[in-house]
Amino acid sequence: MSRRIHELGSLVANQIAAGEVVERPASLVKELVENSLDAGARQVQVVTEQGGVKRVLVRDDGHGIHPDDLRLALAPHATSKIRDADDLLGVASLGFRGEALASMAAVARVKLTSRAADVELAWCIEAAGGVEQSLAPAAHPPGTTVEVTELFYNTPARRKFLKSERTEQAQVDQVIRRLALAHFDVAFELTQTGRAALQLPAHRPEERLARILSEEFVERAVRVDEVRDDMRLSGWVGLPTLSRSQADQQYFFVNGRVVRDKLVGHAVRQAFRDVLFHGRHPVFVLYLELPPERVDVNVHPTKHEVRFRDARAVHDFVFGRLNRALREVRPHSAPPPVLPRPAPVPVTGSPAPRQSSLSWAHEVEYQRPGSFAQAIAEHHAALECAPDTAVPPLGYAIGQLHGIYILAQNADGLVVVDMHAAHERITYERLKRESAAQAVARQRLLVPLVLSVSETEADLAEALREELETLGLVIDRSGPGHVTVREVPALLAGGDVGALVRDVLADCQALGGSDRLAASQERLLATMACHGSVRAHRNLDLAEMNALLREMERTDNAGQCNHGRPTYLVQTLTDLDGLFLRGQ
Ligand code: ADP
Ligand code: MG
Repeated sequence: MSRRIHELGSLVANQIAAGEVVERPASLVKELVENSLDAGARQVQVVTEQGGVKRVLVRDDGHGIHPDDLRLALAPHATSKIRDADDLLGVASLGFRGEALASMAAVARVKLTSRAADVELAWCIEAAGGVEQSLAPAAHPPGTTVEVTELFYNTPARRKFLKSERTEQAQVDQVIRRLALAHFDVAFELTQTGRAALQLPAHRPEERLARILSEEFVERAVRVDEVRDDMRLSGWVGLPTLSRSQADQQYFFVNGRVVRDKLVGHAVRQAFRDVLFHGRHPVFVLYLELPPERVDVNVHPTKHEVRFRDARAVHDFVFGRLNRALREVRPHSAPPPVLPRPAPVPVTGSPAPRQSSLSWAHEVEYQRPGSFAQAIAEHHAALECAPDTAVPPLGYAIGQLHGIYILAQNADGLVVVDMHAAHERITYERLKRESAAQAVARQRLLVPLVLSVSETEADLAEALREELETLGLVIDRSGPGHVTVREVPALLAGGDVGALVRDVLADCQALGGSDRLAASQERLLATMACHGSVRAHRNLDLAEMNALLREMERTDNAGQCNHGRPTYLVQTLTDLDGLFLRGQ
């Protein structure tokens, strides 16, 4: 091989460049539909054959292309959307690089037919392998049709990377769904190999959301609409109980552009981290709007990434607002009371007050069992002088089922609480409050615990000593592969300290260092809370159960455990009556 330098022919150069924009049929569809949207289309029709490999056709009713410009439209770096570098600072259209049609013409056969709004006749131009045919008149209503056939016919190497027809089809489908979520007022239609695959008339947003995500999502999503300075975050987030095992229903738009941005992705995950377990994925459709000059969209040819001028502010805004919206999910206030109801007093027969090791039990004031009769008498007295004292939302405990569930009675009927899940949430929220106030109550271990860990983990424990202390963990390095645990959060002192510390160190390692530790504190606290929570199969007395119920009512996010599972459910009397066919 000679080592002399020569210029590449323009076709090869364009084919190389095309690789960045046209990767597969779905990227063709994205570029073409974005062009239609930029042209102000109200209706966009997409037709594909063989997953788009054989043929992609996109037709719109937008403003069309002037006949004199048709040839230019296919030329590289030709665009009607910006003029100079200054315009790049405030791009409002989806396209601006002027390379999509040219790239397609370099790796496929392209036929472009268009009738501009103010022109009588439609014109058509074809190009293949970078060579154009002459312009010819055509029949076409106002608007544009682009047909791309035989993708990669002249670049077999690229062709090999295409996946099965079904995969390509699915990707095309996804592209349209995504774009449709950003343009509720435009009708979309997708036909795949003769089959109507997707029909989205211009809808009210909720109807389209139901079509694209699910009806359940619309019913169980929290509406977000927050403004700060010149930023606005709006959209819908699915409740944590809707979470999925795949991150396949996550849509984030920046100024109407589909974006897969690390920064916003991180902010969103962070907001959900509070309520979701690792491995579960939230469902959301979110729109961030900000002045175009505050975001650079010219980062990558596919424009899937953006760069924010003030990344920190954007991150904090997205995280803060979502976090708040999610926190508002908790047991709702009780309806008016229904009598009779059980007493919030312990009725276990054990005469000696039992010292509870459960951290929340001693927090809540309850009467020590005097006599059962006395308790009942007091309860009735209390009812008489305060006849309309409300039953708390989660009611009063009446018993425990198989050491797993607490059964309680509230004004509506039966409340069933998953006690481990509920306690985990409470412990977590308390740790969070304490650590936010920089006052995690610590308890010194009577006998310091020496743990053998990996050297990396021991290094980390040493480097992060101060940060860990703010989480309530005092850990010293005591050898190349050993650490000594001296103090732990008082809330967690009863649990398995060794397992707790190992998990926290593993998390720290996964997070990759101290600067990210502060940002990820909540994840660490969640890990910790899991270790401090009451396990299933522990017997609780009624007082302990009631204490847990009251604590749940006071706790943010109490409707789900940290893993996003529900912590309780309610069976109303009507539900139960229905089960027993009463009154039918
Ligand atoms: P870009 O979108 O970045 O400008 P493209 O290669 O995608 O570059 O398109 C080149 C030009 O062709 C656009 O700037 C636009 O003027 C015109 N064009 C392409 N598609 C359409 C369409 N569907 N309707 C009207 N004009 C179009
Ligand atoms: Mg374009």
